[in-house]
This record gives sequence, structure tokens and C-alpha cells, in this order.
Amino acid sequence: MQVVVDLTRCQGYAQCVFLAPEVFHLHGEEALLYDPAVPDDQFERVREAAAACPVQAILLGEEVGSGGR
Ligand code: SF4
Repeated sequence: MQVVVDLTRCQGYAQCVFLAPEVFHLHGEEALLYDPAVPDDQFERVREAAAACPVQAILLGEEVGSGGR
């Protein structure tokens, strides 16, 4: 599944980094880096991260819909 972070919304709260550290990383103080291809075993964590993001900047694959399976 895919994840996209709307970096224009992201405020660098790092809730997602805390909840899914294998997918989201902070580079410096506020630059968020992430791996858009989420492994299956990280799916639940990413869902929690998306729910926890204070500005709803994390969009999951179902909503992004870029084809694939
Ligand atoms: S939780 Fe949301 S605002 Fe915070 S770093 Fe992650 S995407 Fe950005």
C-alpha cells in the first residue's frame, strides 16, 4: 500500500515518526522524510499514524488510488 504525506500541511509534529518509525523519519527539525511504499507489516502502524496526525496530512493508499492492486 502507498502513503502520501501532504508536506504543505505537515507541521512536523512527528506523531507519525513516533508511531511508525520504520516509515516516517524526521530530517533535522521539521523536514519529514518517508517511504511511500509501505510494507504490509507496517500497515497498522501507518494507519495509526494517519489517525494521530494533528493536521491530517497523511493520506493512505486507498484514498490516493494510484492504480496497482
Ligand atoms: S504527524 Fe502529521 S504533522 Fe506531524 S510530522 Fe507526521 S505528517 Fe507531519
